[in-house]
Parts: sequence; structure tokens; C-alpha cells
Amino acid sequence: MPDPSHVFSAALADLESRGIRRRRRASTQQRDAVRWAVDGTTRLGFASNDYLGLAQHPALIEAAREAALALGVGATASPLISGHSAAHEALEEELARFVGLPRAMYFYAGYAANVGAIPALVERGDALISDALNHACLIDGARLSRAELKVYAHNDLAALERALVDTRGARRRLVIADAVFSMDGDLAPLPEMLALCERHDAWLMVDDAHGFGVLGEGGRGSLSHWGLRAGAMPDRLIYMATLGKAAGVAGAFIAAAEPVIEWLLQRARTYFFATGAPPMVAQTVRASLRVIESEGWRRERLAVLREHLSMGLAALPWQAPRTCTAIQPVVIGDNASAMSVMAGLEARGLWVPAIRPPTVPDGTARLRISLSAAHEDRDVDALLAALAELSRPAQ
Ligand SMILES: *Cc1c(COP(=O)(O)O)cnc(C)c1O
Repeated sequence: MPDPSHVFSAALADLESRGIRRRRRASTQQRDAVRWAVDGTTRLGFASNDYLGLAQHPALIEAAREAALALGVGATASPLISGHSAAHEALEEELARFVGLPRAMYFYAGYAANVGAIPALVERGDALISDALNHACLIDGARLSRAELKVYAHNDLAALERALVDTRGARRRLVIADAVFSMDGDLAPLPEMLALCERHDAWLMVDDAHGFGVLGEGGRGSLSHWGLRAGAMPDRLIYMATLGKAAGVAGAFIAAAEPVIEWLLQRARTYFFATGAPPMVAQTVRASLRVIESEGWRRERLAVLREHLSMGLAALPWQAPRTCTAIQPVVIGDNASAMSVMAGLEARGLWVPAIRPPTVPDGTARLRISLSAAHEDRDVDALLAALAELSRPAQ
């Protein structure tokens, strides 16, 4: 009998030959939040989503330590059994207030939030209208829902409106979009999208994984960035954000009108068929919210670093569209070239991930540079100098 795992070895060899086999790295973030111990060396990283440098913040570490001592380390059960603690409850109230929506619900991961919420909101007979560059977990949630799926060209409001017109016959329509697109760092035009949803009686769900903590007044995220304020939030808006990126901890939340959240509590299967996040994690996120709000200098640092990076990139031969977030793509093109630039950076002690299809469209393999408020100006200089060297044709 041939080894039955041969089918997988062959499939892996196929990925390898197409330059799309993925590999993990066992890495350890250092206390300065931007250096990483990887493969026995220390690298300067532009790879994490720890945009504010909070994963190593002393106040958060202390909050986690105290919470572990007081509350233990496990949630013990699903939130609908014994896994919803007073710490979770307090966090949800603070999250709702923070983003200016009536009620919030905390999930152990952003993936679980989207994959759980979307099928709870729409089902067969309904329609989902999705931006072409949406994150995989919105797409997975869409597939699970069995609603009719319409994909519109990235940020194309006319195409979105056509999709709304085409799905008139559906019982309920839900437009889903990243508020900040994860591989490009650009923003969805939320006010115009909301106006279209109002006009066509549809719901809008936005995923603010990369805007929360980074954009808006006090880091309140994309809603605040676009001037949507507490008390003036449209009822048809469902807001999702993750807490393992700029917030530096873990988990995610959905905030919306009271009945929407109460409905998700009844129907989001990833919420109640899974053990809750540990209460110590919820407590640590509470500490993170206080730091996000009070240490505005972290967002100011990001803006300075972004400007510096973007000026330097303009002198290089690659396309690097400006963003107003912590994400800066540098589009290289084919997979092999992107991998080779990444390897060149690695050889110079820098860690910047190359992102390849299927995560990004074919032919747009890129470096995804992510900045952190903890980076120094000289860190960005080191990155720019290495990229300049790598951009020159080999002798
Ligand atoms: C990271 C990410 C998620 C998933 O969140 P996790 O908390 O990491 O599971 C969801 N949506 C977007 C846009 C993301 O970038």
C-alpha cells in the first residue's frame, strides 16, 4: 500500500513549486515591541499588527498579572454557561461606550466574531454584498450563511449601488466591508456607504480590525474618523473590531443596536459553542482601552513615522500608495521577486513579510510594512536604506 499521506506531500510540493507554500517562524517579541528574536538572531520587525506597541506595555502586563492572581487563568465554559464573567461584562460596557454604540459583545477572536455573526444576521433568502478585497473571515462567514453573495469592485460606490438594486428581491440585505483594508491600508468610504444602505434599506457591517486604536479621536476607530458620533449612529450599522492588533491583547467585539446584539447572543454559534476568552484577558483589554485613550502620543508618533516612510518610499521604483493607517504596502509584483526582496531584508536584520496570492490578487505580491508607535526614526531609516539597496539591479 502506498503511504496515504502521499496525496498531501504532492499537494505541498505543488505549493512549493508555485512559490506559495507558507511557513511559520517561532519568534519572540522583545520588550521594546519592535525587535524580535527569530532563528537565533534579533531582527527589527515591521511585521506585527501591534500598531501602538501595547503588547509589551507595562500597564497591560501589570493588569494581566493582577487579573491572573485574582481571577485565575481560564474562562471555564462557554459564555452562555459559566464563561461570561463580571470582567467580560464590564469590558463590554466600556467597549460600547468607547465606540459610541448602544451595546457590545466580546468574542475570543475576530475570526470567530465574523464567522459567527454573519450567518446569524443573514440566511437563505437574504443577500450579502461584499467588497472584493474583504478579509477572509468575512468571506468565510458569508459562505456559511448561505445568503446570496454579490461581490462589488473594491470601494466602487456605483458598483455597490448596482448590487443593492440587483438584490431588491432579497428579504434582508447586509453590506459587509473592511473599514481599513488589511493588505492595502486604505479606507472604505463609510459615510457614502451608509447613505446608500439608508436609501436601499440595507444593513452595513464594518470590520475595523486595522482602524480601532489607530484612527479617530482617542483611537476610537473608523466611525470616529468619519465623524460618526455616539447618539447619532445609524441603527443599521453593525461595527466589529479586533483587540489583538492595536489594542495589543486578544479577542474582538461587535457593537450595534441592543436587539442586534441580543440576537447575536441567541444565534452566533462561534460564541456559545466555544469556551470564552479568559477573564484575565478581558481585564487586560480594559487596561488597554485606558492606554489607547490616554496615550494619544502613540498615534502622533505613527503619523510622523508614516510620513517619513512614505517620503522615502517615493524615491524607490515600486508602487507604494500612501495610506493614513499603520499599514504601508510596497507592491513588488511576482511572487519570486517579492520573496527575494523579503530575503534580502532578512539578510540585513529586518523582518517585513511578503504577502502573496491568494491573500492578495495575482501579480500584486507585496511587502506589507506595518509601523508601530514604538519604532524609532532610525528604524525607518534602516528599512529605507535596505530597500534602496535591494531596488538597484544586481551588478
Ligand atoms: C486579523 C483580522 C481579523 C481576525 O481577527 P482575529 O482576532 O485575529 O481573529 C478579522 N478581520 C480583519 C480585517 C483582520 O485583519
